[in-house]
This record gives sequence, structure tokens and C-alpha cells, in this order.
Amino acid sequence: MQSIIEIETKVDELVERWTPQRADRLRRRALDPGDFQDLASAGYLTLAVPVDHGGSFSGLSSIGAMTRILAKVATVDPSLALVASMHPTVAIWWALPTDPPSDIASTWRAEIDEVFAAVMSGTWLGTITSEPGTGGDFMKTTTSATHVEGEMYALSGIKHFGSGSGVLDRLITTAVRDGHSVEPFPDIFVIEAADWPSGAVDGMSLIAPWDGVGMKATQSHGASLEGVLARRYSWSGGWAAHIDSIIAASAAVWISIIAAVVDTAMAEAGSRLRGRSDLGTFEAAGWAEAEIDRFLLGAARDSVVNLCEADDPPAAAQAARRAKLGTANLAESCLTTISRVIGGGSLSASSPFASWFEDVRALGFLRPPWGLATDALIEELRTTA
Ligand SMILES: Cc1cc2nc3c(=O)[nH]c(=O)nc-3n(C[C@H](O)[C@H](O)[C@H](O)COP(=O)(O)OP(=O)(O)OC[C@H]3O[C@@H](n4cnc5c(N)ncnc54)[C@H](O)[C@@H]3O)c2cc1C
Repeated sequence: MQSIIEIETKVDELVERWTPQRADRLRRRALDPGDFQDLASAGYLTLAVPVDHGGSFSGLSSIGAMTRILAKVATVDPSLALVASMHPTVAIWWALPTDPPSDIASTWRAEIDEVFAAVMSGTWLGTITSEPGTGGDFMKTTTSATHVEGEMYALSGIKHFGSGSGVLDRLITTAVRDGHSVEPFPDIFVIEAADWPSGAVDGMSLIAPWDGVGMKATQSHGASLEGVLARRYSWSGGWAAHIDSIIAASAAVWISIIAAVVDTAMAEAGSRLRGRSDLGTFEAAGWAEAEIDRFLLGAARDSVVNLCEADDPPAAAQAARRAKLGTANLAESCLTTISRVIGGGSLSASSPFASWFEDVRALGFLRPPWGLATDALIEELRTTA
């Protein structure tokens, strides 16, 4: 087993190798499976595996290493970083200690053993949970699950935003079993989708190939499921006791990726503006304004990451609810301002500022997207003294 420091060092070497390719990477519309092999060889996958299953994850406090690694990757390739981030944000659903109901305890533990054994042998986890029209709320899941045999079900419905389709091996999703309700939680299933859509998965059709203007290489495809075979996990609410940790970890990871994009854009802007004696008042004031956004964004990220590292789930989730919305606004405002300062060339598809401008807009749409995130904050304000 590689130590966290060894993994970080290896990822540093990869990022150094990838840095000269940054311009090409920002223009790509597809992922390179070789990058995922390199990250797996560096030990990245094991960061999300609990210590007692052979990895280095020991709770919310382990999130710092993931945020640092993904931030470094984001400086050269935001799409790669975002897709790689789906792995720990899904794995954490199983990685925290749980106390299952006695009737499913042995099945649940066997499922967790199987998930992490698979990850230790190179399996990437991802998710294709979102359904069009639900605003990212999985409590509005309508995909149906018809029992086939054992734990196997046939899923039918429409799913979108399956980031990493084609490179991630297992896509986690939600569906409602026939005769059951979405309450208290939708059931959780896994679709073995390695290579999809270039390799077939019976009943799974590509209905919306990802053509995003932001995070454009993430292969966040939309799919129609018509009787797709999926394995059900025995405890649909197993994650509920850890909801604060899940909220905080996802926010920490995604804010860190976007903060790294902002830092990179500001460093590039600085290298172009520094030393220019002819800088106009508008440009100089814009540069300063963008720097204030960058600074505040970094402070909000540090606040969430530090509370995660301090292993304080309620405080980390409370900070995350504010920081994700706030940093999404700051990132958009920073990139808008800096592109005005850089000039109209920042609208060229070949300008890195054009890519970064669109990439940072992803943060506000990641789970929970704008509306749902605002609802959660309002609910907290209404119910917490
Ligand atoms: C780059 C990127 C990668 C992603 N990766 C993944 C992934 O890997 N897996 C995954 O499962 N999901 C992923 N997502 C999806 C994300 O988690 C959200 O589910 C998704 O962004 C929600 O889409 P939407 O807001 O367009 O909602 P949709 O459900 O598609 O659209 C609903 C629309 O209705 C609007 N709306 C809702 N209620 C109201 C109301 N009362 N009044 C007016 N309008 C209303 C919403 O604002 C929204 O615009 C990704 C998203 C992005 C941007």
C-alpha cells in the first residue's frame, strides 16, 4: 500500500508531465483513458478506501489529501479533475462506519467488502443519478426498478450528466422498486458500465452525448435506460447517518477544483498584466477586484477543508452549505472580471480564459445544484436557533 505522501508525490509528477499539454487539454472534448490508468497506478483510487479494507481513508479527516490532489490536476485539466472527483464522492457513501439493521447486516458488510476489493484492484466509481426535471433532487427519482432475480433489477428511466461515462467502471444510480415508494430514500443500484457507450450495456442508449461548453471533456452523457440490469445495494438509507460528512466532502472536493481553476487563471492573468506600465484604470481596478474574489474563494475553501480535516461533520456541512453557493458566485464573478481585463481575445475558443470561464460555472450546478442548495440553506436558517 502506498502512503498518502507517496501518492501525492506521484500525482505531482503526473501533473508536471501534463502541464506542457495544458492548452490541448483545455480544448479536448473527450477524456483520455490513459490519464485514469496513470492516476490509478499512482494510488489515487485507494485514497477513498477505508484503512481496514487496505486503503488510506479514515473518515472525513482524510478529505484534505483528495482536495490537494484534485486541485493540482485541475490546474492542467479541470475536466479530468472533475471526473476523477466522482470516485471519492461516491465511495464515501460506503466508506464511513455504519451500523446496519440486523436482518441485512451480513449482506451489507459483504457488499462493502466487494466494493472496496474491486476498488483496490482498479475499479473506478462514478454516478449517473441525476434525472432531467428533478433539479438534482434524488428524492424526485422516477426511474423504476423491476426485480429480476437475487439482487438484480431491470432499471427503466432517463438519466443525465453521467460524468466519466466510458472511463469510469461502475456507475451508481437511484431508482424506485416496483411496489415501493421513493420515501424514505430511493434505492441505490450499480450499473457495470465500463466502456459505455462505445461498449454496449444492454438496454442503455446514449440519448445526449455531452456537448457542454464547460467541463467539455467530462463525457457527462445522458442515457435512456430500458430494462438495464443493475445490482441493488441492500440498505438504501445506509448513508443517511453520514449526510453531513457526504455534503461536506463533496463540497470540499468540488470547491477545491474550482478554486484551483481560478488560481490558475489569476496566475496566467498576472503573468500577462504584471510589468505593463500602460495598464488602464479599468484593467488595474478589475485585476484588483478579481484578486479579492480569488482570495475570498480560497478562504471559503480552506474553511470547509479545515473543518473536514478536524473531523467535525456538522460544522463542515454548515460551512459547506454557505461556501458552495458563495464560491460558485465568486468564481463566476472572478472569471467574468478577469476576462474583461484580458480583453475580447478571452472569448476566443483557443484562449484558456474562455475554457476556465465556462468550467467554473459547473460548480453551482454540481450536487446540490443552485435551487436545491438554496433550499437547504433556507431550511437550516429556519430550523436552527
Ligand atoms: C459538469 C457537470 C457534471 C455533472 N456530473 C454529474 C454526475 O457525474 N452524476 C450525476 O448524477 N449528476 C451530475 N451532474 C448533475 C448535477 O448533479 C445536477 O443534478 C444537475 O446539474 C441538475 O440539472 P438541472 O439544474 O439542469 O436540473 P434539471 O432537473 O435538468 O432541470 C430542472 C430545471 O428546472 C428548474 N426548476 C426546478 N424547480 C423549479 C421551480 N420551482 N421554478 C422554476 N424552475 C425550477 C431548475 O432550476 C432546473 O433548471 C453534473 C452536472 C454538471 C454541470
